[in-house]
Amino acid sequence: MVTNEGTLIDVKKIVEDKKLNLKSRVNSLKRKGIVPKIAVILANDLEASRIYIKKKRQMCSELGVEEVEYMLDEDTTTDKVLEIIQRLNDDNNVHGILVQLPVFKHLDERKILESISPKKDIDGFHPLNIGKLVMGNNCVTACTPKGIMSIIKNTGIKIESKTAVVVGRSIIVGKPISQLLLNANATVITCHSKTKNLKKYTKMADILVVAAGVPHLITKDMVKKGALVIDVGINRIDGKVVGDVDTNEVLKVAKFVTPVPGGVGITTVVSLLENLIEIVENIDN
Ligand code: NAD
Repeated sequence: MVTNEGTLIDVKKIVEDKKLNLKSRVNSLKRKGIVPKIAVILANDLEASRIYIKKKRQMCSELGVEEVEYMLDEDTTTDKVLEIIQRLNDDNNVHGILVQLPVFKHLDERKILESISPKKDIDGFHPLNIGKLVMGNNCVTACTPKGIMSIIKNTGIKIESKTAVVVGRSIIVGKPISQLLLNANATVITCHSKTKNLKKYTKMADILVVAAGVPHLITKDMVKKGALVIDVGINRIDGKVVGDVDTNEVLKVAKFVTPVPGGVGITTVVSLLENLIEIVENIDN
């Protein structure tokens, strides 16, 4: 009889612990007269973005962080967005700026992201922060990869000298998490849609991070016994959210697997607030 050997990681607990830690850091900043403040710019009409912004708003209010929102309609121009960002860059009371992606198609997304001061780039998408990440310097780290690193750390598994395989090479997830794992001294293989014989690589992974956006791409036969599997995928099938990993089957061989929903996704907003607080604490020094 084959039984589940692995553990589904309790990501909710990790997030709750992080919130407690952040709350106390926010309170100690407030005692010094500093109220962390984030500015959120929405320039699209997507329901998913509104839901995501609502989650950010709720967490800011829970932690005592000030939040200001700019909801722009379709008439808005790139210049208008740049003007708002310039004002926010110059405002010493605003510590973090976030542009919800994607922006309306007629807007110059790259120009907009690059106009955010790297010092206020809480999403970690500014080229300067990405460059610092590659150089292994201290920098603001993109939220999803930051959340993934916290989950790995929480398992107690040492990253150094392990073989880490990342499936996906997007600038939001695949590339930065590959770099973070490399910076932590793993041997990293990054796979993508043009990789031939994916299984050959995933089978080698002590740590397998999957961010492809393909439902149940990773099956039991593709996973090494005792591996740590991080499922980043969020896919909707018949109204149900599923990941990129066939969770129940993979749990029969892996040591740890993250759930979907309730996994990497719920770390993203808390990572954003961690970035904000780190920025504010560093200004203070
Ligand atoms: P993306 O579409 O930008 O990139 C997908 C990557 O996967 C590409 O590099 C592509 O080459 C690779 N890929 C696609 N099919 C593949 C295959 N069959 N074999 C190997 N590689 C393949 O997507 P993204 O923005 O990186 O997001 C990936 C997934 O993660 C999506 O499901 C997305 O919804 C989810 N996501 C989750 C969070 C979170 O917080 N949990 C955050 C961002 C993205």
